[in-house]
Amino acid sequence: MPAKKKTTKTYCTVCPRWEIKQPEKCSNTLLAKGKKRYFCTKKCKDRFEKTPEKFL
Ligand SMILES: [Zn+2]
Repeated sequence: MPAKKKTTKTYCTVCPRWEIKQPEKCSNTLLAKGKKRYFCTKKCKDRFEKTPEKFL
């Protein structure tokens, strides 16, 4: 059986189905509770900043 390459996918914190394809290039990020959060758009980041408890 061939070894499966482990891939860690990064998803938008606000819309979990939205995969961040290049997290290293993502500019919509935020540090919350000691963890780096990623957002697909500025809109999602704003939503998170307003009500972070909804998404953590
Ligand atoms: Zn999003």
